Amino acid sequence: MFLKMTEPVYWTDPKKSTFEVTIAGVESVDGRVHIAVLEDVVRPASGGQAGDRGEVSIGSEKFTFSGCVRDRGSLFLVAEKGPSEAGRATLTLDIEWRTAMMRNHTGEHLFAKALTDLLGDVTLGRIWIDGNHGSVEVLSSNVTLDALFNAERTVNEIIARCLPVNSRVVKASEIDKEVRAREGVTSKHDRLRIVEVEGFDKSACSGIHVTNTEEILVFKIIDYGIESDRAHVEFITGSRAVQQLSDIYNEVLRRKTTYPFQVEQIGAVLDKSKEIREGFEAMRDKLLETLTRNPAYDTIGGVRFRAEILPGFDTHLMKRFVKESKMKGPTVLLLFSPGDKCQVMLRTNEMPEEARYYIEDGMRAHGGVGGGRGEVFTCGFTGVEDPQVLFENLKTHIVNKISA
Ligand SMILES: [Zn+2]
Repeated sequence: MFLKMTEPVYWTDPKKSTFEVTIAGVESVDGRVHIAVLEDVVRPASGGQAGDRGEVSIGSEKFTFSGCVRDRGSLFLVAEKGPSEAGRATLTLDIEWRTAMMRNHTGEHLFAKALTDLLGDVTLGRIWIDGNHGSVEVLSSNVTLDALFNAERTVNEIIARCLPVNSRVVKASEIDKEVRAREGVTSKHDRLRIVEVEGFDKSACSGIHVTNTEEILVFKIIDYGIESDRAHVEFITGSRAVQQLSDIYNEVLRRKTTYPFQVEQIGAVLDKSKEIREGFEAMRDKLLETLTRNPAYDTIGGVRFRAEILPGFDTHLMKRFVKESKMKGPTVLLLFSPGDKCQVMLRTNEMPEEARYYIEDGMRAHGGVGGGRGEVFTCGFTGVEDPQVLFENLKTHIVNKISA
């Protein structure tokens, strides 16, 4: 892929988006069509980079293509439908997709170089770049989250310095140590294309790039994973990154007045929140233990009945409550979790009727929604003004049903 005697137009003029082309034919492949194009004007998927997208029109007919592949030396546009005849056509690239790929891919060059400068020799594993995002795998045992963040900072500094990005084809023998190249590339090819970010990085690459780092706008890591011998990083660039950064910042700002805190302290706020949640969960466990250790049942004509309000309990915890209650003999258990949405579970044991018999009418009468079969019935109530009143009403309804 690195050897090219004639340079395709997307190497020299990646922003050109309209071309007159020759459709050589159309083939059916796996329920789609491959439209063969003679001119080397669109970039096929290769080297971990998605292909171009766009539209091709012949006369009044238009066909959208969602990808592009090179097969047996020929270039094919991947589409749902294609023209019935060969001939001249106008091809228009999806320039937004192309631009986003150029940004993401050049961002990946900068990031790989910044990490190399930080960590010494860095080997890149799998790479994927498309118009939505990019991901890289870094094979190294000394990547830390701080190193990733430092590299991200360097990339954004390089973007702000507006460095030109140039490419040229050179003899493999002219390549020096400064050039980043994948293992074996220089021995496989006589001539290589070098992509240079002036004053920062040179690497052997056949992909498409912006012509100045400022076009990337911003580089933002959006996910990562660190293992013993590798790290995985997902990132976005361009207007998508700007939008996402401001969305997240605004999400934080929106809460600044309801939960007063300094925006810079969001990390500490989250840590505090985690601590409170853990404390709450521990307390809930304690409550569960206490309530199930000394069960207090009422007896209604030979049936044991118990109703409990359990703040903060979800269905999962209610199930645990039931399990640990170890119901024996004819028993009815009503569990009620109050809130904006009240959650209710009714469990029966050795009762003449299914659980739904004891609660369903009462639930409907109070505007609840739910269902169940056998000895389990669960339901929810929204917009409840006074959960305590609802609880008492349901309790009375069930007691009446048991007594009937
Ligand atoms: Zn490249």
